[in-house]
Amino acid sequence: MAVTPDIDDGAIRSRLHATRERLAAACAAAARSPEEVTLMAVSKRHPAAAVRAAWSAGQRVFGENYVQELVEKADELAGLEGLRWHLIGHLQRNKVKAVVRVRAAVDTVDSLRLLHALGDECARQGVVLPICLQVNVAAEEQKSGCAPADVPALVAAARACEALRLDGLMTVPPAGEPEDARPHFRRLRELAHEHGLLTLSMGMSDDLEVAVQEGATCVRVGTGIFGARS
Ligand SMILES: *Cc1c(COP(=O)(O)O)cnc(C)c1O
Repeated sequence: MAVTPDIDDGAIRSRLHATRERLAAACAAAARSPEEVTLMAVSKRHPAAAVRAAWSAGQRVFGENYVQELVEKADELAGLEGLRWHLIGHLQRNKVKAVVRVRAAVDTVDSLRLLHALGDECARQGVVLPICLQVNVAAEEQKSGCAPADVPALVAAARACEALRLDGLMTVPPAGEPEDARPHFRRLRELAHEHGLLTLSMGMSDDLEVAVQEGATCVRVGTGIFGARS
């Protein structure tokens, strides 16, 4: 049996509180209602006990990057009411079944093959899963996400699939200063607008203010809530 590492519940609670304040301030500065922006707590490489601590402090939406980790934590924490998981890392088709089993939303759909594999598996398991398309707005090599030019076909395919509910778009801009992300966030917003999509998942610990200014409806914060990853 793995030994549960010590988790400083108080530290997670206070960082979560500080992050909520920061997000509220960003919304106020952008003349937006804080209710428009969901805070996703990214718990990758932090133990299930850290997720439990954040849940106890009122956090409900969590993001994980790796399927194996997602599934382990989802199983361990299955009793926590209202907890919702999102997969925000690359999904391989051979892992689709596991993700659907734990009912995680998939924010990283970036190909027709993956979309169809996910839709087929949802139909098989009798569920409808929310998804977002991940867009590689800066066309970075080696990075997941579809090209902006592929968005129309993916939107059409997702909307044709009854077992998937297409909510919006997600992006991870190139590493850089927060301000450098702005044109990429703006591009994502334009793409979503063209397709009538309401969810815009963009912005992380370092650049959530810029993301909120550019219309984010979900910001994904890991370090700011859970501290540095090992
Ligand atoms: C790790 C990760 C985050 C959170 O990053 P932080 O800088 O720790 O806030 C957000 N989104 C994605 C896709 C990630 O992989």
